[in-house]
Amino acid sequence: GGEVEFDSVSHAYHAERPILQGVSLRVPAGHTLAIVGPSGAGKSTLARLLFRFYDVSEGAIRIDGQDIRHVTQDSLRRAIGVVPQDTVLFNDTIGYNIAYGRPDASPEEIWQALRMAQLEEFVRRLPDGLDTQVGERGLKLSGGEKQRIAIARVLLKDPPILILDEATSSLDTHAERLILDALNLVSRKRTTLAIAHRLSTIVHAERILVLDQGQVVEQGSHAQLLAAQ
Ligand code: ADP
Ligand code: ADP
Repeated sequence: GGEVEFDSVSHAYHAERPILQGVSLRVPAGHTLAIVGPSGAGKSTLARLLFRFYDVSEGAIRIDGQDIRHVTQDSLRRAIGVVPQDTVLFNDTIGYNIAYGRPDASPEEIWQALRMAQLEEFVRRLPDGLDTQVGERGLKLSGGEKQRIAIARVLLKDPPILILDEATSSLDTHAERLILDALNLVSRKRTTLAIAHRLSTIVHAERILVLDQGQVVEQGSHAQLLAAQ
């Protein structure tokens, strides 16, 4: 499962200024949709609505055909993983940081997620397995390393739906390449909404939606969008 559908969704934080207007999209289970558009277009708002941080003002959002207003916050949280723009880490072990959403995870599962997110080198810097502090008291992590921790979290949580929020925008080219590999891995077989302001940072998106001032201005495959220009 994991099909995501926005059906004529409008949203306003304040009544006088609509942020999203009549946005419709459908991402079949397991597929990737890139959402591009300038800063302020409403991309993050769209992602927050899927989480039900806010209820839509008009229209409906459905997951596998079910209106998310009838889905509990708990099951929404289980169904959706996020690789955010800036990953916030707890001042605790790397293992805890990766597994906090999966307290039942075995050490083997945690190690596997770390390996898949290409954090082996990082792991080797840990003297006692997953026992080293991160953050202020311990290792200083680069933006790319933090992002790979977020990716490892998602791999371990294994949700059917994934939101990538500008996941490579803050990285240099080398780090970006490394992250793109990990993102391709984590988004494989998951319904993925990949938010970006530049097309070049998009992962293997089959379809692209262009959002501007809260409205869908174009939607189609890469080739279709190029042909339309
Ligand atoms: P197949 O896997 O059988 O080759 P797909 O599953 O890729 O075909 O596509 C099935 C349909 O879903 C196609 O019409 C395709 O254009 C559409 N589709 C694929 N990905 C997306 C997406 N991210 N958003 C909307 N429609 C999509
Ligand atoms: P994008 O992700 O494309 O940059 P956003 O969804 O973050 O766009 O923002 C779209 C518009 O909504 C912007 O004008 C922004 O100022 C406004 N906005 C975002 N979050 C809030 C909020 N919590 N309250 C009021 N306005 C908001």
